Amino acid sequence: MQDVPLTVTRILEHGALVHGSSQITTWTGEGEPQRRSFREAAERAAQLAGALRDDLGVTGDERVATLMWNNAEHVEAYYAIPSMGAVLHTLNLRLPAEQLVFIVNHAADRVIIANGSLLPLLAPLLPHLPTVEHVVLSGPGDRSLLAGASVRVHEYEELIAGKPTTYDWPEIDERQAASMCYTSGTTGDPKGVVYSHRSIYLHSMQVNMAQSMGLTDRDTTLVVVPQFHVNAWGLPHATFMTGINMLMPDRFLQPAPLAEMIESERPTHAAAVPTIWQGLLAELTAKPRDVSSLTQVTIGGSACPPSLMAAFDELGMRVCHAWGMTETSPLGTIARPPAHAEGTDEEFAYRLTQGRFPTGVEARLTGPGGERLPWDGESAGELEVRGPWIAGAYYGGQGAEPLRPADKFSEDGWLKTGDVGTISADGFLTLTDRAKDVIKSGGEWISSVDLENALMSHPDVTEAAVVAVPDDKWGERPLATVVLREGSAADFESLRAFLADEGKIAKWQLPERWTIIASVPKTSVGKFDKKVLRRQYAEGELD
Ligand code: ADP
Repeated sequence: MQDVPLTVTRILEHGALVHGSSQITTWTGEGEPQRRSFREAAERAAQLAGALRDDLGVTGDERVATLMWNNAEHVEAYYAIPSMGAVLHTLNLRLPAEQLVFIVNHAADRVIIANGSLLPLLAPLLPHLPTVEHVVLSGPGDRSLLAGASVRVHEYEELIAGKPTTYDWPEIDERQAASMCYTSGTTGDPKGVVYSHRSIYLHSMQVNMAQSMGLTDRDTTLVVVPQFHVNAWGLPHATFMTGINMLMPDRFLQPAPLAEMIESERPTHAAAVPTIWQGLLAELTAKPRDVSSLTQVTIGGSACPPSLMAAFDELGMRVCHAWGMTETSPLGTIARPPAHAEGTDEEFAYRLTQGRFPTGVEARLTGPGGERLPWDGESAGELEVRGPWIAGAYYGGQGAEPLRPADKFSEDGWLKTGDVGTISADGFLTLTDRAKDVIKSGGEWISSVDLENALMSHPDVTEAAVVAVPDDKWGERPLATVVLREGSAADFESLRAFLADEGKIAKWQLPERWTIIASVPKTSVGKFDKKVLRRQYAEGELD
């Protein structure tokens, strides 16, 4: 067989040629959305690559950063930078300033392409970013914020105007770096995960398989999951492979504009973390909209609460639950029930698992003593994975060796996910917790996720996060922090009785510490931030 490298360039050229009329629609907040075909985006990607090379001197495999929302220009950068041989470095705009500074300096970015609306975030960072020489600005925003900055400032549209709409893309080794994304640094400094052309190509093919997202050129996907986090779950690449249209929300990520764009642009599919969907559900309950086009929703990033899945089913939006992490590109598992479960009571239970491993992801469970555990649906251990789109190391920095910390990689090279769960004999993963969130009470484990799901199935509870707190007798006990629906009179006794009812939660697992909070703190990617809750408790703020 021919040995043709699997590169992002091939995905770009295929999308432009074969699916040239498919659309990227970007929400603008007022008036008509911006509409651009794949062909136009590919031509503009060639122009951008030309400008980066000729005007900004981008060479070799240097990193080029983006600080952008989900929009057509960000898609152009997604293709231009890797295809010219450089490395796309997406910056997570929700990270604390000091982490962003660490990341840009670690990657030694020289060029940042940014949305103008993010200048209030970027401008104060620039004095701390000695490697950055050029800032390229796209979209509205107050340019005067850059007055006095010691960087060269360019306008995206002016920079690419007049450049050739074709580019002589170089031949690239498929194992070369194409893009990178830093983890959000829940412990220690953020770590850089580097995706290769080959890993992106294979991962995107998997995303497109019928048992994964399985979309086609009849679909429009609303890409809520940010392009700055794990390549937006592979969607900007999967779309160019099969001609799926993209609806990009730009900075309009609040529930009301999301509901509005679903009603007017009629996407068939959407992908995001559960917190986004909880918000949309509350919005639709308060103000119903026609969201009938949206029949498929991929949820991942944290466990999908059963109550959310059931509520979306009612609305005709079928939830498909998936698990992954920055280190896994991210698709690790996806929950399509097996054929025999269709239409039975088992079907919902299968959909609530994290899902089945695709062919590219090998998995094993490791017990507390390092022993391998069986796939019997009962033995719980730490999940370890390997495969062609699973990280084998972290970026060490320019010229430095890759990092393989022992708590993240086994001696034989598997990725230790830090997630604890079981795997059934038919390959479905059920996560019970993150290793660091599980509550170790008197030698037994209590799953914080089980408690949260049970609490969130109470009609008066909008959000619930459970964390381990120190306990003299048991070592650790659960603390339940609960957000109540406005006007609710539910109290701890009634919530506790609700949990105990019908054996939902075993008696010894019921929390005896409770607190009502206004909202659960969230991480930079919209997940419950339990380390903030633990700190607040330690500082006496959660009594
Ligand atoms: P961070 O570590 O900053 O949260 P990631 O986005 O890489 O960044 O998060 C990956 C983690 O998110 C997984 O290790 C797992 O704990 C959690 N996660 C992802 N998807 C799910 C899911 N469907 N159910 C439960 N947990 C999930």
